[in-house]
Amino acid sequence: MSDPAITSKPAPLIRPDKDTFLAEENPFEAMMERFDHAAKVLNLDPGLYKVLRNPEKQIIVSVPIVRDSGEVEVYIGYRVLYNTSRGPAKGGIRFDLNVTLEEVKALAAWMTWKCALVNIPFGGAKGGVVCDPAALSMAELERITRRYTSGIIDTLGPDSDVPAPDVNTNERVMAWIMDTYSMHKRHTVTAVVTGKPVEMGGSLGRREATGRGCMFVTREALTKLGMALKGARIAVQGFGNVGSVAADLMAKEGATIVAVSDKSAGLHNPKGFDVPDLIKWVRERRQLAGYPKAEAISHEQLLTVDCDVLIPAATENVITRKNAPQIKAKIICEGANGPTTAAADKVLEDKGVFVIPDILANAGGVTVSYFEWVQDRGGYFWDEETVNRRLESIMVRSFNEVAAATEKFKVNTRIASYIVAVDRVAAMHRLRGMYA
Ligand code: GLU
Repeated sequence: MSDPAITSKPAPLIRPDKDTFLAEENPFEAMMERFDHAAKVLNLDPGLYKVLRNPEKQIIVSVPIVRDSGEVEVYIGYRVLYNTSRGPAKGGIRFDLNVTLEEVKALAAWMTWKCALVNIPFGGAKGGVVCDPAALSMAELERITRRYTSGIIDTLGPDSDVPAPDVNTNERVMAWIMDTYSMHKRHTVTAVVTGKPVEMGGSLGRREATGRGCMFVTREALTKLGMALKGARIAVQGFGNVGSVAADLMAKEGATIVAVSDKSAGLHNPKGFDVPDLIKWVRERRQLAGYPKAEAISHEQLLTVDCDVLIPAATENVITRKNAPQIKAKIICEGANGPTTAAADKVLEDKGVFVIPDILANAGGVTVSYFEWVQDRGGYFWDEETVNRRLESIMVRSFNEVAAATEKFKVNTRIASYIVAVDRVAAMHRLRGMYA
């Protein structure tokens, strides 16, 4: 595996500064506020409301490893299965110092709504290990991954819980999970995890899928507002797997990428970046800082830069009630999970900003994860063109379903997305009935 995306450690992503994170709502409560709104519009019956407000299973494990120094260190790992009524739990695993059980619960619920919104047969899950990957060697990361996998192995499986990459994890990490699980099962089980290297049962197009999905829904939103990707000015926060691919694909469609950022720097170039050149820079140096053909801007300035589309593709709670009034973009495409707080939602709605909510905007990743799982189980692999065409059809259909719900229920696009998703999960519960 000579591909740097597989052989190197994942690049760290931007996290909000501690003040912003603590001052804003608890992520689970922020998610629940939107769920409650959707439940009210749907007139969800009180019993089902209670069921859907609670995660099915929450797992907390100790992850002890021997550090390279010979010292023993113990990390904490979580896996939350939020809801599995529609199928196996599905969702990524993140390695980050800011991981908390509340955050993992919120992210697992988001996965439930996201999979239902794009109508793929999965429930929702999320996992995380509290650690700082930048301070760990590859060998230590491998030991953490394998020990965490063995800690949660009872619920893992192609029919029960299928992880994928998330913040600070990548194909390399997925390969270790697949191997650890398979060694325990005594046979190779590729479908236990998605986002794997293509050489070991990964899907063509999976690595680009989240960014490509962002491109499809942004194109649809621009069309709705009478604009086109060609000539649209776009700012991208986060230059990891989602942000860099979205920027690259949109630039290829004729958009002008006017600002980009990662943890190390914010860069502004109103004339438009040469995105392949930026990607080459980051591949060689692991960060944007120092890139010469741009003016440096702060992380806050990136969010409020003059542009048509803003793509927050880093992490939660970055668009807040403090900075939302200054945002100039007409469209926000949420590449990250939960980048906008509930308080900021109201500001953006009043300003008339068209928000493509996370559970729609970044659903391309899990959609191609679904394709990967289908291919692994069938043992028959598709060409990239087929993957991308099927992804486009699901993203466009879902965008149109959300647009229709926005009009039908007279709500914003985020609440409309929740309405479509929660309605599908609720329908499954009603059909299955209560096992007691
Ligand atoms: N971590 C990604 C997400 O938040 C992908 C999940 C998956 O493919 O299962 O959507």
